Amino acid sequence: MSDRHVPDRRQPCVLNIEDDEDIARVVRTLLERAGYRVVSVGDGREGLRLFHDERPDLVILDLGLPTLDGWTLIERVRDLSSAPILVLTARDSESDKVRGLRTGADDYLTKPFGNSELVARVEALLRRRVTRPAAASSVGSAHGAAALGTPGSAAAAEGVSARGAGASGVAGTSGASGGAGAIGAVGGAERAGGAAGAQFGSGAASRLVNEHGVEVDFDLHVVRAGGRPVDLTPTEYRLLETLMTHRGQVLSPEQLLRLAWRDPTATGPDRVKFTVLRLRRKLGWDSGPENPIETLRGFGYRYRPERRT
Ligand code: CA
Repeated sequence: MSDRHVPDRRQPCVLNIEDDEDIARVVRTLLERAGYRVVSVGDGREGLRLFHDERPDLVILDLGLPTLDGWTLIERVRDLSSAPILVLTARDSESDKVRGLRTGADDYLTKPFGNSELVARVEALLRRRVTRPAAASSVGSAHGAAALGTPGSAAAAEGVSARGAGASGVAGTSGASGGAGAIGAVGGAERAGGAAGAQFGSGAASRLVNEHGVEVDFDLHVVRAGGRPVDLTPTEYRLLETLMTHRGQVLSPEQLLRLAWRDPTATGPDRVKFTVLRLRRKLGWDSGPENPIETLRGFGYRYRPERRT
């Protein structure tokens, strides 16, 4: 069930791997209306082949698929690329979500989903996409520059994030049961989230941080470790950005889910745990006595700024 009629290469491409034709049609209609080029396929193996051919900017996939299941597909795609993966599934089980996110998915949406929610998630994933410099040789980086602009207007995108921020305030109240309430200065941390990077550097011109052997350009979304570009998924990048922006502060998994994942429900603290593990590994921060991303058992995570003398 693949069709690739009249491809318009200027539009960001979404590959939708879904064997339920009704859902596939809904996804296509919604995303095309929002200005995306949608390639649909109902079979896992064919989906992987189309991923190679089309090099989509984003992948939406179902977990239960013929010939190659969603889990395997996530792994295969992740081996090749850091294109965002949104899992669209009927399974509303926590262990499935954890497994999917551990494997490398960036976000989850449970069926049935709200129409505007799907578009909002896609926009958020693409908007936050990590861009890399000219190194376009790998499959992953081929998506780079083109993925930056989403067809939705900037105003629409901001509307999404504003909505998310409002919702997170509500979730914050109920999230206290997760242990977040025990941490001081919790409320302030979330409000500071929007103004990322304002505290970096002396001027507004450049938001560049170089600490612990890792250089982060917050304007270009480029991360280097030991001078070499690091290929982070959008979620990994946002996590790093959030932790660095709140340097020295302890952020609970719930806060991180709201700030970095933009998930107002803040469910599934394991998503944070596994992404922290992946992030540390990619940045070379997983060895050595002093990890810049500290785990504070029962409380959360803290980015430890480099001590300068
Ligand atoms: Ca299915």
